Amino acid sequence: MAFRAFHKPPPPEPVPIFGEPPIPLEFLRDLFAWLERPEAPTCTHAHKDTIRFLVDRDLPAEPVLKWLRAGGGYCDCKVVTEVAGKWREKQVEQG
Ligand SMILES: [Zn+2]
Repeated sequence: MAFRAFHKPPPPEPVPIFGEPPIPLEFLRDLFAWLERPEAPTCTHAHKDTIRFLVDRDLPAEPVLKWLRAGGGYCDCKVVTEVAGKWREKQVEQG
């Protein structure tokens, strides 16, 4: 039973600052659309498709991945479920 003590859930992380995206908005929209495409393969819990998108367009991968992770986008499917949704809400709030 002592073993279980090491597996306590971590304390909730503070909400990260979800600042300005490091790439132009039109690329961000295209990225979300690409990740949400109906024929998208099952997420491998990596940023495989995100990186492919960025590399294909000569965009800087590292700052974008950092920005996505700050919004909870730890892999391709999380980018869609966590970042794309939140970011769209934010855009609506800002008008
Ligand atoms: Zn995933």
